[in-house]
Amino acid sequence: MATTQTKDYYGTLGVKKTATPEEIRKAFRKLARKYHPDVNPNDKKAEEKFKEISEANDVLSDEKKRKIFDQLGFYSDSIDPATAEAAARGEYGSGFGAGGGRARPGGAAGQEVPFDFGGFDFSDFQGGGRGGAQQHGGGGFGSSFKDIFSGMFTGGQRARGPQPGTDLEYQVSVDFWTAVRGGITRLEITRQEICPTCKGKSTTGGSIECPECHGAGHVTQMGGRMKFNIQCPRCGGSGKVQNACGTCDGEGVVTKRTQLEFRIKPGTRDGQRIRLAGKGNAGTDGGPAGDLFLIIKAGTHPVFKRTGDDINVTVPVTIMEAALGAKIEVPTIDTHEGGGRTQLKIPPGTQTGQKLRLREKGVPSAAHEGVRGDQIVEVRIVVPKVQDERSKEILKELAKLNPEDPREAMLAEV
Ligand SMILES: [Zn+2]
Ligand SMILES: [Zn+2]
Repeated sequence: MATTQTKDYYGTLGVKKTATPEEIRKAFRKLARKYHPDVNPNDKKAEEKFKEISEANDVLSDEKKRKIFDQLGFYSDSIDPATAEAAARGEYGSGFGAGGGRARPGGAAGQEVPFDFGGFDFSDFQGGGRGGAQQHGGGGFGSSFKDIFSGMFTGGQRARGPQPGTDLEYQVSVDFWTAVRGGITRLEITRQEICPTCKGKSTTGGSIECPECHGAGHVTQMGGRMKFNIQCPRCGGSGKVQNACGTCDGEGVVTKRTQLEFRIKPGTRDGQRIRLAGKGNAGTDGGPAGDLFLIIKAGTHPVFKRTGDDINVTVPVTIMEAALGAKIEVPTIDTHEGGGRTQLKIPPGTQTGQKLRLREKGVPSAAHEGVRGDQIVEVRIVVPKVQDERSKEILKELAKLNPEDPREAMLAEV
């Protein structure tokens, strides 16, 4: 018959055998913060460690349990303090089992002690527990602990039955034209997908002989000099355990890098959040998948500046065009390969900085079908660099003909 490992609860919490309850409480809280499943999602080692420290704390933080553990080297709810005391004093015989020497058949040493030393149950943290087969006395956590960690423990519950997958969020860079006109974008993401071997069930079906008790359903535990025959903690006495899927390590999901192709709607804006339902992490045991959220980072353009669905363009015009009025060509986002052109009428007397609106020459709205923004053209007057004498003469003459001072109104204000 197999023998369970002796637990070193003091070592697990990193405290001395003489530690005060306060020292134990502090050591546990420090470790619990480090290994809590919420802090270490999908980390099996941290989960195991968290179970170990929780189990150690459950026993060591309780004076009665701690005494039994000190006497026997393990703890069970089903062993009363008197039995532990007697076993520790060796009243039930000596030399049985590990130490060699005389075996003492029958008697108290061979008594069957129904005992569940089973896996730590996260629901204990919430005070109530689920009831059922696992009976841990007391819960073991002081209210101060619950106050600090309240809310943390819902996430720490072991997965039972269908569990929904979590959402994912990725930032996606798309160039200016793809955001304006729409298109197909590819993205490589890492997500949890349903395990192809067990189809998300975590087990490969059927059960195998429990590796702890080799199918016997019970194991031997030495307590002091006494040998206890206890229910196998691994299989709960059934002698069988579910055959965990080897592909996903019993998780039901595997982590995969996946190429995704998705459509960018025309008019998609910078910072826009796109939801792809069911494209997040897979759920387990038939639970629904999470969503994938894409945050769009839209590229810029050297000429066209976007403000929502409007396009802003600054267009240089000459003094003559601005003064006399003109029909000029301005770039627009229409047609392919870097935009098209359209005619724009510059009214006579147009000032620099003046804005002219080209209706419905902006970006198609991603939100409202058939709606387009405008193109706003800002006029910037460029002054000719006059070098020849004839041009200078003409400008001088022009100055004489137009003697008004553009600063007059301004100077009158001060
Ligand atoms: Zn699997
Ligand atoms: Zn077993």
